[in-house]
Amino acid sequence: MYIGFATKAIHAGQEPDELTGAVTVPLYQTSTYAQDEIGKHKGFEYARTQNPTRFAWEENIATLEEGIAGFAFGSGLAAIDSVMKLLKSGDHVVMAEDMYGGTFRLFDKILTNFGLTFTAVDMRDEQAIKAAIQPNTKMLYTETPTNPMMNLTDLRMVSAIAKSVNAWMVVDNTFASPYFQKPITLGADMVLHSATKYLGGHSDLVHGVVVTNSTEIAERLKFIQNAAGAIPGPFECWLCLRSIKTLAVRMKQHTENAMKIAAMLENNPAIKAIYYPGLPSHPQHELAKQQMSGFGGMISIELGSLEKAVAFTKNLNVFTLGESLGGVESLVCHPVSMTHGSIPKEQRERLGVTDGLVRLSVGIEDYEDLQDDILNALKHIS
Ligand SMILES: *Cc1c(COP(=O)(O)O)cnc(C)c1O
Repeated sequence: MYIGFATKAIHAGQEPDELTGAVTVPLYQTSTYAQDEIGKHKGFEYARTQNPTRFAWEENIATLEEGIAGFAFGSGLAAIDSVMKLLKSGDHVVMAEDMYGGTFRLFDKILTNFGLTFTAVDMRDEQAIKAAIQPNTKMLYTETPTNPMMNLTDLRMVSAIAKSVNAWMVVDNTFASPYFQKPITLGADMVLHSATKYLGGHSDLVHGVVVTNSTEIAERLKFIQNAAGAIPGPFECWLCLRSIKTLAVRMKQHTENAMKIAAMLENNPAIKAIYYPGLPSHPQHELAKQQMSGFGGMISIELGSLEKAVAFTKNLNVFTLGESLGGVESLVCHPVSMTHGSIPKEQRERLGVTDGLVRLSVGIEDYEDLQDDILNALKHIS
């Protein structure tokens, strides 16, 4: 019915309220629902199981990711944890070695206690992925672009491997958002987000979602969502419905600003390396052009040392030092001390997550202000 992405974002699941005509989906801030008589109700019994505001948001995000069903959770990690509950003791997962630190920590420090085993591989390396497959491999789990090294996974390639061994393919699509990348259309069975980031987009909520195109997975996720109970409150769902309406315009601006900043920084002598898939010099730029329709607002830069990272971040004014990303305001983060502390030093450094690495979440402020801010801060380290 709705064709274009922005139209879907604004209307899917968000038809005017039948009772009053309210154009915005009402916030059903309730825990329970009055029943007409025993065994007779309007389809709503208890708010862990059913909430109309949450249902509207779940339908919206499922539409945007081109799946058949969406499920909302209290955080991105709650979404990931709920997806992992599809597995059982004895199952094996092939995971990307370069991922959000919290995902790694969940797998390594908690889920291994429940009999799941994991092999971390370079998801750019087809042979390495194939070599990691075991008879009990049930899932291939990846993130693209990765946080913070901006490596890409060739989703069609990984999907072919997953299908050949009858394993599920799960993709964390937080960095690209469905505006730029739709993993289900490239073969993923499940796509998930920390909606705390671009979907929420205003740094005012913590939230997660999962979308699938399989009726079997959808039924099981629905059961897990209710039975394990990692649901969000209705207000967060309402905020997501509000935010998603501007996802298209926000992502366009994030990318436009990031592209200009990356081009400006690429040949700056203070920058030892820059990681942004929109640059033709990115080793996977061709793949980025094939499977993404835009490159997003995340850039990582190598400044050479901890001292330089400290001086650079201290002298930024428009960019705020903080964890998280994907909000309208520009943020800068030092992965080693902030988001990726739980990854062992050896592994971190092999991946390029060094003491001098700084990650920029480019916001949608005026480009000139962002440019001046970065150039001024760089003066202090050169
Ligand atoms: C932040 C983040 C998560 C975790 O999400 P929370 O909402 O913080 O629980 C997972 N994956 C990626 C890529 C992230 O950036």
